[in-house]
Amino acid sequence: MNAESNAAVGEWTGPFRRALGDWELTVVTDRTYTLDGGAFFGVVPKTLWHRDAPCDERNLIRCGLNSLVARRDRQTVLIETGCGDKLDDKQMRNWNVDPRRDYLERLAAAGIAPDQVDVVINTHLHYDHCGWNTLRRGDRFVAGFPRARYYVQRTEWEHARRQHERDRMSYLSPNYDPLIESGQMTLLEGDRELLPGLEVRVLPGHTPGMQAVVIHSARQTACYISDLLPTHWHLKPTWVMGFDLDPLATIDNKHRVLAQAAREDWLLVFTHDPERPWSRVERDGEGRYAWRSE
Ligand SMILES: [Zn+2]
Repeated sequence: MNAESNAAVGEWTGPFRRALGDWELTVVTDRTYTLDGGAFFGVVPKTLWHRDAPCDERNLIRCGLNSLVARRDRQTVLIETGCGDKLDDKQMRNWNVDPRRDYLERLAAAGIAPDQVDVVINTHLHYDHCGWNTLRRGDRFVAGFPRARYYVQRTEWEHARRQHERDRMSYLSPNYDPLIESGQMTLLEGDRELLPGLEVRVLPGHTPGMQAVVIHSARQTACYISDLLPTHWHLKPTWVMGFDLDPLATIDNKHRVLAQAAREDWLLVFTHDPERPWSRVERDGEGRYAWRSE
């Protein structure tokens, strides 16, 4: 691990917990990895993003791999499953994945056993969002959450299967194909309420089938916004990741979601933030967005 980048953001561990009406929300991290600062902020010059986001001498930014557990009554929903433990040595090195692959122990320490999870939602199928979906058992792969029904958008899976040269390195099929073959993963066709008070909303841009998860209770709303707004540093609608396949769609969707989030006081949960699990947004008289201190 790079000492300087690690020191720049400190240890990112959690868990972080809060209530949202009837729901208990817990962010559990699969520790960290790094992304190139240029890829992370797209066309935004380093002179601007570097004021906020610390990077090391190789331009790498240490990022969180944050999953969200939403629990209510006897329902346990897990949104995203981190990087997992199936990466080879080269992938671990290239992405500077924290070698401590102890996510399942960290879930257990937060009181969540794999067989308690009823629903797993992947916002999309990049390797850093669905890694613990499955576990290697010899030359087979089995569900990491044996009782769960898994959900992803069909358009996302179809894109993953294309293995386009632009982004095929981001898609590792053992994370999802065994679940489709076993019938445990449902391919969704658009927005859908999965449980009362919990729905997915398709927000293309980063990938064709990326979805956010919106959770409601007692007139409060939280949104796991995924790579539409991966860290609190990406608040400006035009600060869009270089990975995005359709950055103009990302910008349009960011405008729509941020306007609603500010109007309705949503709690936004960040997928890659190494400093903050969540924040609320407000809008000033000139229409600019700012994070609200709680
Ligand atoms: Zn991501």
